[in-house]
Amino acid sequence: MNIADSPERTLGGMRFLQGQRAVVTGAASGIGAEVARALAAAGAHVVVNYTAGAERARKVVHDIQQAGGTALDVQADVSREDQVQALFARAIEAWGSVDILINNAGLQRDAAFHEMTLAQWQNVLDVNLTGQFLCSRAAAREFMRRGVQANVSRAAGKIICMSSVHDVIPWSGHANYAASKGGVAMLMKSLAQELAPHRIRVNAISPGAIKTPINTDAWATPEAEARLLRLIPYGRVGETADIARACVWLASDQSDYINGATLYVDGGMTLYPEFAGNG
Ligand code: BGC
Repeated sequence: MNIADSPERTLGGMRFLQGQRAVVTGAASGIGAEVARALAAAGAHVVVNYTAGAERARKVVHDIQQAGGTALDVQADVSREDQVQALFARAIEAWGSVDILINNAGLQRDAAFHEMTLAQWQNVLDVNLTGQFLCSRAAAREFMRRGVQANVSRAAGKIICMSSVHDVIPWSGHANYAASKGGVAMLMKSLAQELAPHRIRVNAISPGAIKTPINTDAWATPEAEARLLRLIPYGRVGETADIARACVWLASDQSDYINGATLYVDGGMTLYPEFAGNG
């Protein structure tokens, strides 16, 4: 039977993740929270991971449960090996295994380069890059242990790395963040190459400017938004739902032959609109 026709994968029209088990890091707010809700709406059991913001994480879990989904909030700092191990142990204890990892946790500690402290540099690299390493390794170990379960998914597991347009667009004043996302791009591709024989898919989503707490200053006033829109050919700032929809698709068997790809969900920011009629 064609996967798209399989009733257990299309219940309600779009339940492409029916019965799959997902860990979403940094899911108490912003993109992560919306991704958690969307995965749950598509039928997945979702671990809502957070470091700070227990109340917000519980609210995401509550929203999911109210909508008829299954979710669990688990505190863990993704940059700490022991806490990542505990996070995955908890997910596996709750639902037997993990099928999807959304490496979403990330932060900015912006500074002019000549003033950037080692602590600012390290904090961003620890969470944005080392965090993705630790979580991907924990997920890969579980995917390899379990192997493919044909009634769940064609893949043994899926990893989605939340990157950024700044994995290709240099970003003055944000050298630590851009370096971390450049690192994520090659981590993702190397893992995709290495893990494909195990039927593990690894891909990235690179959001452009999405309205979240991380970049409020860039869109909260009409003047700031107008300035930002000059960088976005499509003429609107992104919404978290734009990323969440792409994430559901990339985690599902609908995208089964896609491996090692980066999907830019950015309204055309990476088309360098400053060059339109210029250069
Ligand atoms: C950053 C945002 C920024 C966007 C576009 C994202 O990765 O986290 O702060 O608005 O890239 O520049």
